[in-house]
Amino acid sequence: MSAQILDGKALAQRLKDALKVEVADLSKKTGAAPRLVNIMVGEEHGACAYARSQRLAADYIGIRYELTTLPRDTSQEELIGRIRRFNADEDVNGIMIHKPLPERIHYGIVANFVDTNKDLEGINVANIGKMILGDTRIIPCTPAAVMEHIRATGIGLRGKEAVIVGHSHIVGKPLSLLLLEEYATVTVCHVATSEAGRLREHVGRADILIVAVGRPALIPGGWIKKGAVVIDVGINRQGETIVGDVDFEGARKRAAFLTPVPGGVGPVTVVMLMRNGIEAYKMQMSTRGDRIV
Ligand code: NAD
Repeated sequence: MSAQILDGKALAQRLKDALKVEVADLSKKTGAAPRLVNIMVGEEHGACAYARSQRLAADYIGIRYELTTLPRDTSQEELIGRIRRFNADEDVNGIMIHKPLPERIHYGIVANFVDTNKDLEGINVANIGKMILGDTRIIPCTPAAVMEHIRATGIGLRGKEAVIVGHSHIVGKPLSLLLLEEYATVTVCHVATSEAGRLREHVGRADILIVAVGRPALIPGGWIKKGAVVIDVGINRQGETIVGDVDFEGARKRAAFLTPVPGGVGPVTVVMLMRNGIEAYKMQMSTRGDRIV
């Protein structure tokens, strides 16, 4: 068996094409395209690369995208003040805070000042809470990208054993809710699962395996159940190359579907940010009474 490779760039392109059509339709009805702002404090090379890919995606889809760069010595209070102004501005439909932030600013605190209906990254506590209640209109981008990859396989999740390795706030935990929403039977593994020597046993049961840890080759190919769907979220720099958390060549021999790293989950994540922006825009328009949907 040789796994079918899930091409993230091709999937991202299909999703962008669909969003472009939706934005053109919305813009025609409302007279304006969604406007998203990304607030960056200081400048950081990696962050700028991510911002560039956001701008490219936004330009393609027809979304207005702005990067606001604040001085490196901006205080937490000043940043919150800026967020409040964007919250109050009816012509701003989505807001995100770019990471990394200077150490004195706490992302978990400032991100929660973003208006729930403008929360581009879907990490606001209210939006996480809504996910538990089954409202998945605005959701964290990486879990959303994982779900799109699974959807692209055409394999239904109902009754399947879905195993997530990694229980972070931004990937593993929200992903477990999205999988539950689709009636998968969900197991979430983490560092203590490995410490207990039980990671292999859980991985070996997975019809759908998602790994988000940040450790190269944590999952040897031989552990993977034959015919599984394997989504590798990990990003690990090894010299000049980037690898995931799954032994790619080994997994290829056993899985039915497998995401590459790079070129798997990453390219879809930025499109999910745009999708959140469009959902945010629709929610704001409907609360203002505009009939757009
Ligand atoms: P994190 O550091 O917040 O969490 C790591 C998780 O891995 C924790 O649940 C921890 O318990 C678990 N873990 C650590 N060692 C383990 C072990 N030996 N066995 C089993 N579990 C173990 O990580 P994160 O922020 O969720 O990121 C995880 C990886 O995903 C990183 O490589 C990150 O770069 C990548 N990532 C990719 C994207 C993307 O869009 N492609 C987005 C976010 C994160």
